[in-house]
Amino acid sequence: MGALKTVSLVILAISVFTFIALFGRLPAFRKTPVALLHRALWVHLPNGIAAVDNRLFGGRVVLCWNRSGSYILKENHPLVLIFFVSLLVIGEGLFVPAAWPRLSSFHQFAVPVAVILPYLLLYKCVVTKSFITAENHEEEMKRYPYDRVLFHPGHRCSTCDFLKPARSKHCSFCQACVSRHDHHCVWLMNCVGANNCVYFVSLLVSLSVMLVYGIYLGYSLLSEILNESVPPQVRESMQGWTGWINAWSVVVAAHPRIGGVFLLMLMTAPLAISFLAYHVYLIWAGVTTNESAKWSDLKEDVEDGFVYKTRRSLIFDSRHSTDFYDQSWPVHTDQILVIDEEPPTEGCLLASDSNCIARRPASDLPPDPRWKRLHSMRDVDNIYDMGFWLNLRDVIGLSVRRPKDILST
Ligand SMILES: [Zn+2]
Ligand SMILES: [Zn+2]
Repeated sequence: MGALKTVSLVILAISVFTFIALFGRLPAFRKTPVALLHRALWVHLPNGIAAVDNRLFGGRVVLCWNRSGSYILKENHPLVLIFFVSLLVIGEGLFVPAAWPRLSSFHQFAVPVAVILPYLLLYKCVVTKSFITAENHEEEMKRYPYDRVLFHPGHRCSTCDFLKPARSKHCSFCQACVSRHDHHCVWLMNCVGANNCVYFVSLLVSLSVMLVYGIYLGYSLLSEILNESVPPQVRESMQGWTGWINAWSVVVAAHPRIGGVFLLMLMTAPLAISFLAYHVYLIWAGVTTNESAKWSDLKEDVEDGFVYKTRRSLIFDSRHSTDFYDQSWPVHTDQILVIDEEPPTEGCLLASDSNCIARRPASDLPPDPRWKRLHSMRDVDNIYDMGFWLNLRDVIGLSVRRPKDILST
């Protein structure tokens, strides 16, 4: 009982710590205890340590830590990837040979598939880059239209020295602009972007399936061992939770390779499954992790009453209407948003290539009635959300644009 409880608590603590450290910054956890704990871990704890170090050692410990810490936090290093692969190799190296003699021929066929698939997908995730280069820049500019909400035309990447395509972002770890930037993944030593997003989601599926399958096998084998090793009369006398946990502790302790990895899988499966669920949600919503943070910022601006909306057709005449939005893109919208503390006033100018309004010619002019203050994010269109199946096609890398012959009719 004691050993099982200790091992479970340690693995649970590590899982919760890893989850908060890695995912606590996600916009989904804003204003939740997870975000608070993440901030405590990454901001308050280092500040506290620095204050103590300043008092006791004149800041020497933090200086030394910063040298190694900046490598860990700011460089694209393979430490987390090595940890991830080691966890897989060691876990499988312990579990599979110990379980193998007890597996049926079906499972002896299925286990190698479940084991190998994540390695293949991990390899594809690591080696497939979505970098925007001078060679593919022209193509990348055509990949997505600017939505003029989160992405506006005319912005340059100062490092790469070219115009930023819509939905791209410069990654300081990869030192490149990344197409359809989702997030820089330290587990992969690579950015998740347009070209490897499909492998990334497949990797999450394969890891979740492997863990759930592993838990099922572990549970079946340990119950089998329990039934073999504990006489029926003793089993009958095992009443309630305590008896059940006691019996399982004995089995896990007697078969630590299967038992230990079973517990590890039990604790890590929720991590993999919740991360998979989050990415399925992102596909459903037609946003990337990078964009979800931008949408959250916009939501706060809407709540503060700083966002005004009008219809494009009210502001621009037909001369501007054809080049404002990309005609072959499946989703069209008539919205123009402006983020400003004051409502746009009569006579304000809107540049046709962006949502920027020129400052009001005279501050005492009345508000322009064509602009309405936004009260809800439901009134903002996301042109990258084309419905689940088209969003999925886009992630897979299939074309989502309307064919030219339909456009001309
Ligand atoms: Zn760049
Ligand atoms: Zn990156």
